[in-house]
Amino acid sequence: MARYNRSVETLRIAVMKLFRAGAAILALALIAGCGHNEARSLAMKGPTATTSVSALGFAPDASDGAFPLFQSFAPVSSSPLNGRTLEVSHISDIVLQPREVVLTFDDGPIPGKTHKILRALDEYGVGATFLMVGQMARAYPKIAQDVALHGHTIGTHTDGHANLRTLSADAAIAEIHRGQRSVSAALAPIGRRPAPFFRFPYLADTRSLRERLSGEGVVAIDVDIDSKDYFRDAPSIVRDRTLLSLEKHGRGIVLFHDIQSRTAAMLPDFLQALQERGFKVVRLVPAGRPSGPMLLSDASF
Ligand SMILES: [Zn+2]
Repeated sequence: MARYNRSVETLRIAVMKLFRAGAAILALALIAGCGHNEARSLAMKGPTATTSVSALGFAPDASDGAFPLFQSFAPVSSSPLNGRTLEVSHISDIVLQPREVVLTFDDGPIPGKTHKILRALDEYGVGATFLMVGQMARAYPKIAQDVALHGHTIGTHTDGHANLRTLSADAAIAEIHRGQRSVSAALAPIGRRPAPFFRFPYLADTRSLRERLSGEGVVAIDVDIDSKDYFRDAPSIVRDRTLLSLEKHGRGIVLFHDIQSRTAAMLPDFLQALQERGFKVVRLVPAGRPSGPMLLSDASF
């Protein structure tokens, strides 16, 4: 029996190593390459889909008394930078007032950098949304859990950071669902689930995918301000560029990547600058108790 346990453990460790090796390769590819594509994709982004299909939101199983498991949000009221909490069940719910900012971090979690970002967010008492890649969450579930335990919102970003425009509609949806299941599995040990928020890798959306997601109660989180933190710039350049863009727009959803060390390095200064300039950080949370189909039932694992 002991030998059996040992071999199961060996197998478990081998599988974990494989996950981590895969995630490390993926992370390197993302850190090095995803940026330029994402910038191009931002430029060539087609018309935003306006769908009449109303999003049904993330509905719990009726028997799930612990719902909503993903809501642990405890805003730090003493923080001058902390703004409103927006309940979101549809993209149209994200209406920002002047000088309101939403912070989003894509592509993680990853050792070192994600925790550094959590510390900066904690220091300024603000909440962010982390759009996690499934493979990364599978490789580093404890870090994913820490993000949730720090009160942030977790959404998804596919399983392997695929460009969904290159896949068939069914393959794209399957890839999105795989990502949701991976992130769900990472959070399950602490009784949490991801919010039904999704970001298209490379911002490469299509109208029909947006409509299908909307029909599933998933909100595609768009980007107003691209920090371009994937460019090989000094942290201060990323900070200044993002602030400049934010001043120009006056409000908006900011795209960062928690896999980038320059982002982790510049974040405290960036938040300090936001505070001095009178911005407020708005946190997005899933709407309360909408009716509709369950998105990620336990049975789907
Ligand atoms: Zn990405």
